[in-house]
Amino acid sequence: MNSAITSVIVGLAITQVAILITTIYLHRSLSHKAVTFDRRVAVLLRFLLWITTGIKPRQWVAVHRKHHAFTDIPGDPHSPVLLGFYKVQFGNVYYYRREALRNETVAKYAKDLQPDRLDEILFDHSLVGLGIGISVLFLVGGWKLAIAASIVHAVAYLGLSGAINAVGHSFGKRPYDNLATNNLWLALMTFGEGLHNNHHAAPTAAKLSFKNKEIDLAWPIISLLVRLHLATVRLSAPKFKRQPAQ
Ligand SMILES: [Zn+2]
Ligand SMILES: [Zn+2]
Repeated sequence: MNSAITSVIVGLAITQVAILITTIYLHRSLSHKAVTFDRRVAVLLRFLLWITTGIKPRQWVAVHRKHHAFTDIPGDPHSPVLLGFYKVQFGNVYYYRREALRNETVAKYAKDLQPDRLDEILFDHSLVGLGIGISVLFLVGGWKLAIAASIVHAVAYLGLSGAINAVGHSFGKRPYDNLATNNLWLALMTFGEGLHNNHHAAPTAAKLSFKNKEIDLAWPIISLLVRLHLATVRLSAPKFKRQPAQ
């Protein structure tokens, strides 16, 4: 196969793995406690997150919980309503980092995620994780693939993360009474995260699809882990923050 096409396919595959871990581990598990993973699964997810994104979970969780505490009002770290659509879509990583590096934000919103021994040795060293990820690509496919697939992955991951925060608070359906939106096409590309209006309506729900035509591709994976006794889900039905608008 053409090496450019291979690099794009590999890059996008890595992005999908990173997006899946972001939604089931960082978002649904650590941020909202909607699902809890077996410790071995959690360590594997932490490791894969580390080598594909370098994200420090307690920072991501703190920024995200602050977003829920101040959704689309002053204090929201990345609201397109306050900052404009394009700034959040294309500058999401800047706004994320600006908030993530504030010690007071992490101290206030991620009290439950104190650094442990694994963080000290491995996971707090973001560049080491990314270096391992790129080295694996190099060993598998050489330096051209390693560089090209890493660039594709970085652009796709940052683009989709930006879209959840920008598109997901600007365009789409609002079945429930909040400013976030549902977009099926975005949900299909982000393992359900595009159902963002549903999520803001019931943040502790482990399954983000509430109706027949909504698709949350992360849910079958969570369900499988539950059946294998490797995960537990907190609620059997979504608990809505307010009455759903009918
Ligand atoms: Zn949101
Ligand atoms: Zn959330």
